[in-house]
Amino acid sequence: MYETIECKRALSPSGLPGVDYALNPYTGCEHGCIYCYAPGVTHTDLRTWRVVRVKRNIPGRLARELPAVEGVIGLGTVTDPYQYAERKFRLTQMCLEILHERNRRVHIHTKSDLILRDLDLLMDMDVRVGMTITNIDDRVSRMTEPGAPLPRDRLKALKGLVDAGIDCYVLIAPVMSSLEGRERRLLEAVAETGARSVFSDPLNLSNVDPSRLERMGIRSSPLARLRIGEIGRELGLDVSESFENRLPDLWPS
Ligand code: SF4
Repeated sequence: MYETIECKRALSPSGLPGVDYALNPYTGCEHGCIYCYAPGVTHTDLRTWRVVRVKRNIPGRLARELPAVEGVIGLGTVTDPYQYAERKFRLTQMCLEILHERNRRVHIHTKSDLILRDLDLLMDMDVRVGMTITNIDDRVSRMTEPGAPLPRDRLKALKGLVDAGIDCYVLIAPVMSSLEGRERRLLEAVAETGARSVFSDPLNLSNVDPSRLERMGIRSSPLARLRIGEIGRELGLDVSESFENRLPDLWPS
């Protein structure tokens, strides 16, 4: 369900390391991840999080605000900028066109292969892309991220980005018990895309209703995180167990 709204501002100062301003063309998200803590962070009721608010005036606002700001723009800091709404409304694409025109550094985070639609733009930008992949198994993905593209589609997108010379990393987060026993398959698939940087993060339960996870028997998995590190390094990947701490390294100033 979509609700079209007008935003007062396009950019907001970001507290994320390595990102100066946050740009979110949508609030709410259709991916429906069972571990999503974004509603808690944005003070939104979990039940309405799947109602996507479409900020139809955001490209115009962005164009007006950009001359007054400097630094890295984080596209999709609270919700996926390439969720299905983007196929219809194209706000992320319009914002990217403006950022491209103004030669701005951009950090994009997504779970969607729709990003490949904008490959021509991205190839001509100073951009880093993070692709979240939490499992290799379609069945698990459908259970934990029911509205998101399947892992194989994300991996294909990742390969397309890497082949095009885009600076990419993979975020395995949250690391859940549903990954146990599948770590090697996932990391081998990542290595095959040519991506070299992998970050992992534990399950963050501070803003999550744990009952859905408990019903599915899913919990945080320090064991799977350990194995990601071991197997990843064995495969020649640059694995970091802490996404937040390493993020500044991604944007050396
Ligand atoms: S993609 Fe991100 S914002 Fe969307 S439901 Fe999943 S965790 Fe939440």
